[in-house]
Amino acid sequence: MRQPIIAGNWKMHKLLPEATETARELRSLVGHVSHCLVIVAPPFTALRAVADRLDGSAIKVAAQNVCDIGGFGARTGEVSAAMLRDAGCEYVIIGHSERRLFYGETDEMVNRKIRAALEGRLKAIVCVGETLPEREAGREFAVVEQQIAGGLAGLTDEDMSNMIIAYEPVWAIGTGKTATPQQAQVMHEFIRRLIARIFGKVTADAVRILYGGSVRPDNIGELMSQPDVDGALVGGASLEARTFAEIVNYAR
Ligand code: PEP
Repeated sequence: MRQPIIAGNWKMHKLLPEATETARELRSLVGHVSHCLVIVAPPFTALRAVADRLDGSAIKVAAQNVCDIGGFGARTGEVSAAMLRDAGCEYVIIGHSERRLFYGETDEMVNRKIRAALEGRLKAIVCVGETLPEREAGREFAVVEQQIAGGLAGLTDEDMSNMIIAYEPVWAIGTGKTATPQQAQVMHEFIRRLIARIFGKVTADAVRILYGGSVRPDNIGELMSQPDVDGALVGGASLEARTFAEIVNYAR
């Protein structure tokens, strides 16, 4: 039985007062749930403050990106896994489609970032997903297979136990267009089979595969009813504590 995960990605939103207020509200709304693991990913500038507000609750903190080189060094503008842990993170989102699209992240970079995160004792939430033209060309499975094979290349079973996959069709992110529960299930099952081929069935059965793309309180229930959907990575609907809490509670 895989424990579901509901993760909220705040992206480049919220200054400190708003971030800490949202964390305070989340703590009182879902700070003690045990039916699923709740994770929030504030911007770098709010990580420490949010982690302090959530300390001792069941809600974990994630960063939205990490440097592909661990520790310390001459990497102006970058933040390493060690620094993220220092700021209170246990998780990090890697390879989000916005990073791939706007900052040119490749599968090789995603692979290096995963390694840096795991070496720095962070758990990785690795995003994959096809664009609309790729789906329309019937290439969605080929694209996701390449992202999985490239992103996870050379990793071990043990590495996989510290990883979560998020399937986020790019055409569903921030568009209000959610994949149907069937579309999500078909791709999640495909991803699980890929992981079984690379790492074996035990690892594939244990890995959590989240769906992301316009998840809301009114669609989380049917998405979660699919056997290979183990939770959600939520963008826009995670910004407001009550809406996010509704999603967490629906995921029961
Ligand atoms: C995301 O960016 O990870 C995401 C799923 O966004 P939204 O929920 O707003 O579509």
